[in-house]
Amino acid sequence: MKYLIAGNWKMNSSKEFIRSYLSKLNFEDNADVKMLICPPDCYLDEVNSKTSLAISKGAQNISFEEEGAFTGEVSAKMLNDLNVEYTIVGHSERRQYHNETNETVAKKFNIAIKNNIKPILCVGETLEQRKTGQTFDHIKNQLLTVLTNDLINRDSEFIIAYEPIWAIGTGETATPEIANEVHVFIDETLNEIGLSDNNILIIYGGSVNSKNALDLFNMSHISGALIGGASLDVNEFIKIYNIAEEIRNE
Ligand code: PEP
Repeated sequence: MKYLIAGNWKMNSSKEFIRSYLSKLNFEDNADVKMLICPPDCYLDEVNSKTSLAISKGAQNISFEEEGAFTGEVSAKMLNDLNVEYTIVGHSERRQYHNETNETVAKKFNIAIKNNIKPILCVGETLEQRKTGQTFDHIKNQLLTVLTNDLINRDSEFIIAYEPIWAIGTGETATPEIANEVHVFIDETLNEIGLSDNNILIIYGGSVNSKNALDLFNMSHISGALIGGASLDVNEFIKIYNIAEEIRNE
């Protein structure tokens, strides 16, 4: 896989939305460009059963506990049961509204890896951190807290999503150059900790749409996108997927 085009539906959709969305979703699947949809957990089976297209399914979150008295949580085993291949971990909305720290994100990342679910680790700085020159230190800290432990090795499969918080849901995208600069830094950090052979995709998230996708995907270290708002519009989502496909063919 060279590109991952992932839709994060957040707390949106309904059975009717899914029926209509999947009836319009058509694309030429290929091994190099994977399409992933992350609906709310309660609709994972609905997405599974209503399409035969080669779409991967992902969760937006995962419990860091295996099982037991954790009201409201969904475990890795339950996600396995629903054919989930990926899970987002450490999305900035989880960090902001649910007080997730780098340490809790690390536990979630580990439990996903242990259960053969590929985590998509979200990292990114606030506007304040960017303005005060803390972007790279902050992102390095987010990466190292999660990735430097005994469970993570050269065989571990995961994705990194660079999502500058100031660009999420704001309509303000990082310029391709700003985004790529951070992607290069993430790549270098992975090299430093011996994970350069893992073939890890680094995808960008933050107000991606069909108008800015081409310039972003043309950058050297941007291998796809994690898309919130625009993924809820099936035509937009297909257009973004097709842009990645075109680039792959170049
Ligand atoms: C996201 O939720 O990860 C995201 C990037 O949202 P949006 O595309 O709406 O900015």
